[in-house]
Amino acid sequence: MAEPKANELMEKIVSLCKRKGLVFQSSEIYGGINGFWDYGPLGAELKRNVKELWWNAMTRMRDDVAGLEATIIMHPQIWRASGHVDTFADLMRECPLTKKRVRADQVDPQSGTIYRWSGAASAKNGWTVEKLCGVLLLKGQHPDSARKKAREFYAQGTPDWASGDWQTLELKGETVAAVENSLDFHPESGVELTAARPFNLMFKTYVGPLESEDNVAYLRPETAQAIFAQFKNVLETSRQTVPFGIAQVGKAFRNEVTPRNFTFRSREFEQMELEFFIKPDEAVEAIAGTVIKPGEGHPGEPTPAWGWQAWHKYWVEERIRFYEGIGLPRETLVEYWQKPEELAHYARACVDILFKFPFSKRDEKGELLGEELEGIAARSDFDLSQHERCSGKPMGVFDEELRAAWGRLDPAKQQELAQRYYDARYKYLTKTGVEPEPAAKEAKANAEGLAKGQYIPHVIEPSAGVDRLILALISHAYCEEQVTDEKGKTETRVVMRFHPRVAPVKVGIFPLLKNKPELVAKALEVRNLLRPHMAVFYDEAGAIGRRYRRQDEAGTPYGVTIDFDTLGEKPELLNTVTLRERDSMTQTRISIDALLPFLLSKIR
Ligand code: ATP
Repeated sequence: MAEPKANELMEKIVSLCKRKGLVFQSSEIYGGINGFWDYGPLGAELKRNVKELWWNAMTRMRDDVAGLEATIIMHPQIWRASGHVDTFADLMRECPLTKKRVRADQVDPQSGTIYRWSGAASAKNGWTVEKLCGVLLLKGQHPDSARKKAREFYAQGTPDWASGDWQTLELKGETVAAVENSLDFHPESGVELTAARPFNLMFKTYVGPLESEDNVAYLRPETAQAIFAQFKNVLETSRQTVPFGIAQVGKAFRNEVTPRNFTFRSREFEQMELEFFIKPDEAVEAIAGTVIKPGEGHPGEPTPAWGWQAWHKYWVEERIRFYEGIGLPRETLVEYWQKPEELAHYARACVDILFKFPFSKRDEKGELLGEELEGIAARSDFDLSQHERCSGKPMGVFDEELRAAWGRLDPAKQQELAQRYYDARYKYLTKTGVEPEPAAKEAKANAEGLAKGQYIPHVIEPSAGVDRLILALISHAYCEEQVTDEKGKTETRVVMRFHPRVAPVKVGIFPLLKNKPELVAKALEVRNLLRPHMAVFYDEAGAIGRRYRRQDEAGTPYGVTIDFDTLGEKPELLNTVTLRERDSMTQTRISIDALLPFLLSKIR
């Protein structure tokens, strides 16, 4: 079957999400609210599975990561220290007519004819205005539609607007010019956009009864900052030592200028973030005598000689393996290494893991380019240093191994490592606005601290979005195929090929006939056996083929049918059931005793 076009495919996916109870528009009965989505019964299970798999892989299955669950609203100083209050902004442009906003970097190129005017005059109310107005006309559109928009633009807020006389406004200085691939016109209205200006993405609120500036607080735009703010408490209570990580899953809020592509860019979403704290390379070198640089592929098991590059590579590979393990093959992902000019000033490297969504742009060869699922950044010691400076509380650690190793180094090596550490600290301090003289003094104290085993840990941050991952799993699972039934009838089967680990429901339980109490009783017995261990769905309504199809669309990987053989009609088949596999549609006979271990081996 030919592949459906991207938009068509997204439409089918969105409609299936609603039909099957995966994703609903938030507040739908009131017309919805842009950028907010709810997860229905199947979506809630899917999301839970994904978060639990992440949590297990990142915390319970490791010795070196501890968990955290922090509040959404925190002290506003946290967002000053992190830079969000000053710089967490997108450049935004506005349509001066409809007031609709777009992100400056997300305007698609348009070609056509630009009509421009230098101003307008109202004979009726005796006013003139000199102001530029441009409207882009696409092929086939009549110039009068541009003139109408221009008159509306000039009339805004004038008496002509209120009285409805604006249609007779006289437009002045009309010019016409062809344009190719312009990024300056609103995609819907065609009106020339205003200049770009920053728009802070944090949602503001007030804590307490007074709506005053002193009480402003923010809904967190990421979960990471709570981890830095609680770093010392977790370190002290978890008995971890560097290198170790702190993981958190939770809601984040961003007042995105243009939420779009279904749930991909939402205003309320969830993140799964790990902050993995490591020793600075100078400390690693002092302890291990060298710093290992990673080669190609997974760098293997951590060693004391791993510096930030090996740890960064390790987490990129671990995260890709995680995605593979839940059903997103490597070829659906792109590992994008940010270019030096794209990096934040404190970041040493950042890899975005992209997924090839149906709505992703294509390169010149027609290959999907992909959109960000997760970013894995090597953030130096920026975050903890910022919180140390802004809170006045020490964020450094004491490392006995380093103190002992330092004493064994020859003086030239000590000098070289101390100098490198000094340079890095001086650079950080001056970049964040500290004057050269106090910066030099503080960096010198930091370098002396290193010699005594003290440093501020560096961090590697794998930061993933739950909702984007859910959308990737749904897009990848969606499949239409032609099947022919026993009577030779061909129909389209819609199957959600979710990996059994993430599938919202793991198994459907079907008595062959609902009016045979023995079959129903046995089917309920099987359901009761399985349901303490996994999500099951019991269904006795309709023909068995229809019940299978419903579960195919829900992405349930297995179906179990209880028939007369289960009850012993053929004695050798007593207490066996038919196990149907969703993707291959093969049916095998399995004993009820073997069912639970078999299913557990597939879903874990
Ligand atoms: P983008 O460039 O797409 O806006 P970002 O680089 O700002 O994303 P980060 O700040 O690195 O994103 O956030 C980490 C992860 O959180 C992203 O990789 C993404 O999965 C998720 N995320 C960020 N913003 C949104 C959003 N508006 N809706 C859904 N998920 C989001």
